[in-house]
Amino acid sequence: MKHFQSQNQAQQAGITFLKGIEYLETPGPEYLSLTAERASQELGLPGTFRVLRADEFPDDKIKWGCEYDTWCVNPMQYCLFLLGQVIARGGKVFKREVRSTAEVFQLFSDGVKEFGETVPKADAVVNATGIGLGDDELVFPTRGQTCLVQEPCEATVTRQNADGSWTFCVPRGFGAGTIIGGTKEPDNWDPKPDPQVRERLLRAFEGTYPNMLAEGKSRLTPVRDIVGRRPTRKGGLRLEGEVVNGAGFVMHAYGLGGRGYELSWGVAEGVVEGIKGYLEKERSSRL
Ligand SMILES: Cc1cc2nc3c(=O)[nH]c(=O)nc-3n(C[C@H](O)[C@H](O)[C@H](O)COP(=O)(O)OP(=O)(O)OC[C@H]3O[C@@H](n4cnc5c(N)ncnc54)[C@H](O)[C@@H]3O)c2cc1C
Repeated sequence: MKHFQSQNQAQQAGITFLKGIEYLETPGPEYLSLTAERASQELGLPGTFRVLRADEFPDDKIKWGCEYDTWCVNPMQYCLFLLGQVIARGGKVFKREVRSTAEVFQLFSDGVKEFGETVPKADAVVNATGIGLGDDELVFPTRGQTCLVQEPCEATVTRQNADGSWTFCVPRGFGAGTIIGGTKEPDNWDPKPDPQVRERLLRAFEGTYPNMLAEGKSRLTPVRDIVGRRPTRKGGLRLEGEVVNGAGFVMHAYGLGGRGYELSWGVAEGVVEGIKGYLEKERSSRL
């Protein structure tokens, strides 16, 4: 959160600061014993963290809830903002599908014609391919079906249901509607949205957070279904360097699952550290 708060251009970057609300139907002991003091001291949550009273829950299936200050990102706006910053600092962009990291080193030693000039040999390659390049048996997609609705929402709300399913909303901000979710389906590659799932998700959210509905309305207004794949990896993300024989140094940074935006700054710092460490070692071994 501190990275996002420190961006003085948060608005241009597509970031909205808002309230986060969590509802749990079957909270474990770690939730039931969570107080504002513990949340602040042990988990570093902001001082605005508050455990909700039972009379603030939307229904009696909810057994625990809390609210705190957080942020939501409009991904299209945020990625465009970052791209602008990369280009302004001299970064160059081109698109090509590759089969291996060795192929990327080869591209650079051959010269990239899109750049219209000779580019230097790559010192290192970052493998941030999400689901990986097909050579890691630990990665798999976790399908997520969501629905964009017209209505804005003043909070990001997440409900963990007793059957293991989720009901949530992520406002895009800037008048761009709200994402209502969502499913978590490991190893499901189906790209088609299911209209029955959309109905279920919208009904569940309307029941959980009726505040989102304009006065006199009982239904949200769907705009379009979205199916995405979270790049998941058994045992967690891969953030490590590898010397690929005959090619060069590769910094792997993939398998971020459903938390790619939340983890992005920490992962980027790990990537920079890994590459710097390798290059420094290389330089000193040549002296
Ligand atoms: C329903 C849903 C809800 C989500 N909710 C959240 C959330 O609340 N918070 C959060 O932080 N994140 C969330 N995410 C997850 C987030 O979208 C991902 O974690 C994030 O996109 C991962 O980013 P990434 O850049 O590592 O991988 P990706 O976004 O998968 O990007 C990988 C890139 O590599 C490129 N690529 C892959 N293979 C090759 C190849 N062979 N050659 C060339 N290019 C290649 C791809 O084209 C793509 O551009 C959600 C995702 C879904 C689907």
